[in-house]
Amino acid sequence: MSKARSPFEQLRNRFNETDLECSACGYIDDDGNWRVSAAGSRVKYQFICPTCDAIETREMRL
Ligand SMILES: [Zn+2]
Repeated sequence: MSKARSPFEQLRNRFNETDLECSACGYIDDDGNWRVSAAGSRVKYQFICPTCDAIETREMRL
């Protein structure tokens, strides 16, 4: 079992491959990254839209 990648990192990598799309205005940020914050076994992803300042939030469990 490799310790090179934590589940946290794997999730983050997977998330960074998904499109950052603002549900408020439809803007797609090709170069953007999710902001990741972890609390216990839950990981929160946030993306702040640069055009309308809406905040997209996703939450996942490890
Ligand atoms: Zn937007």
